[in-house]
Amino acid sequence: MGLRASVVDPRTGEILKGNVTLDSQRARQDVLLASGLDPQHAGACGMAAGPDSSYLVDPADRASAESMALARIRQLSAHEVGHAIGLNHNFAASTRDRASVMDYPAPRVRIVDGRVDLSDAYANGIGAYDKTAISYGYRQFPAGANDKSELDRLVSDAIAGGMRYLADDEARPAGAADPRASLWDNGDDAVANLRHELRVRRLAIERFGTTNIADGQALSQLEAVFLPLYFHHRYHLQAAVKTVGGAHFSFSVRKDAKVSPETPIEVISPERQREALASSARRPGASRARGSGAHRRACSASRVGTDSVVREAFPKRTDPFFDPSGAASIAADMVVRGLLEPHRAARVVAFHARDARQPSLDEVIEAIVGRAFSSEPRETANRALVRIEVQRVVVDGLMRLSGDVSASPAVRAIATDGLRRLSQRLGVRRAPTYEAFRRMLRDDIERFLSRPFEPQKPTERLPVPQGDPIGGS
Ligand SMILES: [Zn+2]
Repeated sequence: MGLRASVVDPRTGEILKGNVTLDSQRARQDVLLASGLDPQHAGACGMAAGPDSSYLVDPADRASAESMALARIRQLSAHEVGHAIGLNHNFAASTRDRASVMDYPAPRVRIVDGRVDLSDAYANGIGAYDKTAISYGYRQFPAGANDKSELDRLVSDAIAGGMRYLADDEARPAGAADPRASLWDNGDDAVANLRHELRVRRLAIERFGTTNIADGQALSQLEAVFLPLYFHHRYHLQAAVKTVGGAHFSFSVRKDAKVSPETPIEVISPERQREALASSARRPGASRARGSGAHRRACSASRVGTDSVVREAFPKRTDPFFDPSGAASIAADMVVRGLLEPHRAARVVAFHARDARQPSLDEVIEAIVGRAFSSEPRETANRALVRIEVQRVVVDGLMRLSGDVSASPAVRAIATDGLRRLSQRLGVRRAPTYEAFRRMLRDDIERFLSRPFEPQKPTERLPVPQGDPIGGS
């Protein structure tokens, strides 16, 4: 990661000195990412492989992955310098064509002639927002100019040009509401971007195999390269999920007795929310990859005698071998936790209460349950294992929401009702799942409904805000 520290004059806020430290993690991850997406980058720089194998890689391939990693480091350097001279993150900048180095950049992956193309992975130079922000903080206006109105004009020009500012508090919480404020994403259309990244992921998984690592690398390294690819869509998924129960908002200021021209809170249209719901809930977690299954076989190589510490790895239930169903359950959990996040669920309920055209929480739950529990003709045993993991994640997610003492009473009631409907559905033999698993799910739901998470906890009361003019003493 990059670290930075500034020495600030406490009297004026002036930054007197800034330090920036960069380490190798970003470059290492970029090489893993590039190697997973396209075999021609396999093991470039030796970073994914460890120091011994870099000499095995064709210099031309090394150059292209290296140039991607270097572009990333250039971007990161500018980012940390931006912090050191006073800039905050702006996670809405990537909706305006890489307008700021203060956003977190996702590599821009294009599909050219059926192959992934990383030649434009990272931007060059700083963006339009950065220029505006530095102008605002540092520009000296000519003598006699009215500084305040000049600064106001800088900001209103930027807003008129479509520039937006949304920072950590708007982007990072699991229940964040504005899809424009997202980390590691590209572009202004969260749903289209998710679909694109899913296409990229499918394409790369279909081709994935031993050629994604270099000759001489241990086969166990395939897992390190495969996992970033398997979860390639995760950040664009987060952005798309924010569309559901989402709204665009801005830091509006009352001006001349009016609010600013932009509507301060604009709930995202019902059509758009449904598109986002359909794209993110699409068979949650189930990989659509129709590849040869080479990745499963290849990733099953044990890691004996190699560097076993892989930062991106996950604990496997099939340890020491790769766990495809476990990976699918993690991917499904991202979808279910995102869509059933208590704040998001409460907003869905509130928006629907105000405008019946907006999706209801029942509809959101049905979209998730419907996809996970729909029957699939001629399902292979392997696919059935994945389906079991996904169904478990969905039931656990509904129980979690139903039992969540911080969720609104309406949300808890609707989640509980979702469990009742699901229990009925599972009461039918020939439900689309293994018989033993069907019985277990149904038993668990029934047990939960009669004795939810012992000891049963009531919904937390919201505290009355402080009103006394002085504290306790
Ligand atoms: Zn930062």
